[in-house]
Amino acid sequence: MTVSWGLIGASTIARQFMIGAIRAQPDGEIAAVMSSSPERAAAYARENRIPAAVSTLDELLGSDIDAVYISTTNELHLEQALAAIEAGKHVLCEKPLALTSADARKIVAAARAAGVVLGTNHHLRNAGSHRAMREAIAASRIGRPIAARVFHSVYLPENLQGWRITRPDAGGGVVLDITVHDADTLRFVLGDDPVEISAFTQSAGMAAGGLEDGAMCLWRFASGVIAQSHEGFTTRFAGTGFEVHGSEGSLIARDVMTQKPVGSVLLRTAKGEEELSFDREDLYARSLRQFHAAIRGEGQPSATGEDGVWSLTSAEAALQSARSGKAVAIDPKLGSAG
Ligand code: NDP
Repeated sequence: MTVSWGLIGASTIARQFMIGAIRAQPDGEIAAVMSSSPERAAAYARENRIPAAVSTLDELLGSDIDAVYISTTNELHLEQALAAIEAGKHVLCEKPLALTSADARKIVAAARAAGVVLGTNHHLRNAGSHRAMREAIAASRIGRPIAARVFHSVYLPENLQGWRITRPDAGGGVVLDITVHDADTLRFVLGDDPVEISAFTQSAGMAAGGLEDGAMCLWRFASGVIAQSHEGFTTRFAGTGFEVHGSEGSLIARDVMTQKPVGSVLLRTAKGEEELSFDREDLYARSLRQFHAAIRGEGQPSATGEDGVWSLTSAEAALQSARSGKAVAIDPKLGSAG
């Protein structure tokens, strides 16, 4: 069975990664793209060899597609996801699922009631590097995990210096952009859930309108692990990394908080140092492969709707902490409270 996709949003991420990832599936095809502008829809369809271009959601959802990929600006995800679910389409939605965790929970509940597959496009779970770290931790290769550090402060490319740094109403800011990914990656790699967060944010010269372009977060996990994460848009030369330190060893990964299947993971123990090998499959292609399997009834998307609720609840709590100056509890059933 072919999975026929409709793209909601004539976006950069679809053009750079997701169109190719769908087409990399033997059973994947893209039937149509929707943009709010008919001209942009037509141009995008032409440039990306997509058969149909539409400019309303009704037109897209009324067509013969099985699934939608939503990559519009963040304030539009809720309405578009709910409409797609109501039309019986499977939904792969970009992060954050919505602007608030309460709205994200609505999407999850609607998908469950409708019996459609819902995934959150947290790509980093699909990285061989992160999966190798998760497996090493699960196999007790570092003993009992004690602490983690995520370095995910980058330089926002000039072509993306738009709504992310100017539009609070569109869900701009580095926390909804990158801290959500760090929340998901920490949960996935540690196999643990965060219970509390404390955050400082800053505006270091790029973001406007009261938005933050840098964040440092301190996390406490259910097992007692503590973590720190740094997200930013303005650090040109920082490089990325991820470390997990345990009672019997440390995992030290470099250049792994990225969209590409690159980087390295070093395991350091009393026995010495070992470079872990891992697969270099395209992160987004793997996400799509698992999503297609979930449609066939085989397993779940690599990041589910519930995972998207967790990451958004965490980001929401980080923003609340930055405003209040206090640590905030993370509870995905309730949203943040603190
Ligand atoms: P873009 O800014 O490229 O696209 C978002 C929307 O902006 C599009 O849907 C489009 O609206 C509009 N738009 C795009 N280009 C133009 C233009 N030239 N003129 C006017 N409007 C334009 O966003 P991104 O691709 O960077 O991000 C989209 C979503 O994907 C966000 O939710 C983001 O958080 C997420 N994302 C996820 C990543 C991941 O790895 N998981 C990585 C990057 C982004 P319209 O459709 O109406 O034409």
